[in-house]
Amino acid sequence: MTGCIFCKIASKQIPANVVYEDKMTLAFLDIHPVNPGHTLVIPKEHAPTLLESSRESAHAVVDTVQKITPAILAAVGSPAFNLGVNTGSAAGQAVHHFHLHIMPRFDADGRELWHGRETVPGELEAVAAKIKERLE
Ligand code: 5GP
Ligand code: ZN
Repeated sequence: MTGCIFCKIASKQIPANVVYEDKMTLAFLDIHPVNPGHTLVIPKEHAPTLLESSRESAHAVVDTVQKITPAILAAVGSPAFNLGVNTGSAAGQAVHHFHLHIMPRFDADGRELWHGRETVPGELEAVAAKIKERLE
């Protein structure tokens, strides 16, 4: 898509530290890594988010994650990782071309996980019912 920075990376119009490429996907290092080895996996086909992505592209992205993550972790000596998919501006998505973050983790690296909260009685049941209603 014209003007999309990740499409430009996919078509080699702008450079990136590419670590893996196949027919449908590309993986390259994030320019502002959370930890060493922080990698982005994108489908070559433009879609703003996972939800608009074709089934083939979405599956290919997950295949690539499975294939390359062990090498990323071994390369940086990491025992664990978080996968992230920021979807929509409110969720922190800055680049509107579907991408998945592979973020290597280290013991006591200071990175925070999401903080959950206690619920009030009936809250979870009500939300589950509303979601299921829309899936019928
Ligand atoms: P988002 O918040 O959209 O999930 O994350 C976008 C990510 O893309 C950010 O972590 C940012 O550092 C990375 N990024 C943005 N522009 C570029 C770029 O031109 N090259 C590379 N390698 N990473 C980029
Ligand atoms: Zn794009």
